[in-house]
Amino acid sequence: MDYRFSGNVERLQSSAVRDILKLTQGKEIISFAGGLPAEELFPLEAVHEAVDRVFAAGKGALQYGLTEGYLPLREQLCARMAQKGMTVEPDQMIMTTGSQQAIDLIVRVLLEPGDVVLVENPTYLASLQVFSLSGLRVVPVESDHDGMIISEAERLVREHKPRLVYVVPTFGNPTGRTWSLERRKGLLDICSRWGVPILEDDPYGDIKFDAGATYPTLFSLAGSADGGGVLYTSTFSKTVAPALRTGWAIGDRKVIRMMAKAKQAADLHSSTLDQQTLDQLLRHFSLDVHIRKIGDAYGERMRQMQALLRQQGWEDVKWVQPEGGMFLWLELPEALDAEALLRCAVSKGVAFVPGASFFAAQPQRNTARLNFTYTHGERMALGISRFAEAIGEFTARR
Ligand code: PMP
Repeated sequence: MDYRFSGNVERLQSSAVRDILKLTQGKEIISFAGGLPAEELFPLEAVHEAVDRVFAAGKGALQYGLTEGYLPLREQLCARMAQKGMTVEPDQMIMTTGSQQAIDLIVRVLLEPGDVVLVENPTYLASLQVFSLSGLRVVPVESDHDGMIISEAERLVREHKPRLVYVVPTFGNPTGRTWSLERRKGLLDICSRWGVPILEDDPYGDIKFDAGATYPTLFSLAGSADGGGVLYTSTFSKTVAPALRTGWAIGDRKVIRMMAKAKQAADLHSSTLDQQTLDQLLRHFSLDVHIRKIGDAYGERMRQMQALLRQQGWEDVKWVQPEGGMFLWLELPEALDAEALLRCAVSKGVAFVPGASFFAAQPQRNTARLNFTYTHGERMALGISRFAEAIGEFTARR
């Protein structure tokens, strides 16, 4: 059979991370590439106990469930959202197969091929893939460490009349950046004046290094779910475990209802077993204490990676210290192409993600994303020394 593939899938760039994993197969590689949480911090016993409770309760966990998600879990999540100033009812929430599916469903219900979506530059790669697969035009907005430049966002909203603005305002991927309150309010103001919905993607907001710091979500600043104009998604992937593939979206109930229709076509519903497990976990385990443990450990690892990088004494390698999340975003010497550097790094036994693939346009080729959560301690030190060797060799060659 001579298969003909759709234009959208033909045009889809395969994930740089996946390509790197292929490159590293069968080699002893220290990887700072994937966005993997620390396995030793997974609440293995608590999840095990939660699964036992689910099975002890009977056969229900093996049955089909509601497309919108397991109601007791949604009720508990609504209470957790309320603690962060996000007031929603269960019918303003839908459980999804990871927050990745929430992004996909929101795009399916709100946009048509050819519509424009505004994004930060750079932004999360797998969202760019969703936009590309849906045939959208992606317009990047110039962004700095405080978030999107608001005057630029307004100029582009006026010029392109986007149907969605997609942002990761707290500890973003790949940059680790956190938007200032002023920029958050600035974007809300523009979008409410021009009637453009915002998709706030917040997988990392809980993973903060300073326990006392607060980062108001755009959703909470917008005030209300119905008519508020912000659709918010988050996930248990970083706070419990990504394998449970459980995320959620909240927003205007009209949008949630449409998402449920689209989800029926996609997968009927997310795993009942996983959702019931999380429901039991939230009832019998202090997730907030666990999240604090993760935040402290990741903060420690981020500081270790920074110290190791500083020890190299590079003047032309720059980064801004993240306040949370899982990534350090490096700006390497200007003429250095991080994709070429990667090949050299892999030959020395270390991997990272070159920054170019996170840009919707005009990639900054001298950038790199380093994950500091998965590899730690002596192995992190060894990885950074290999990385430094690669940079040294590479810059000497020029
Ligand atoms: N959004 C961002 C910004 C992410 O970094 C990720 C995970 N890498 C996701 C969404 C999707 O996460 P999940 O589907 O596991 O909830």
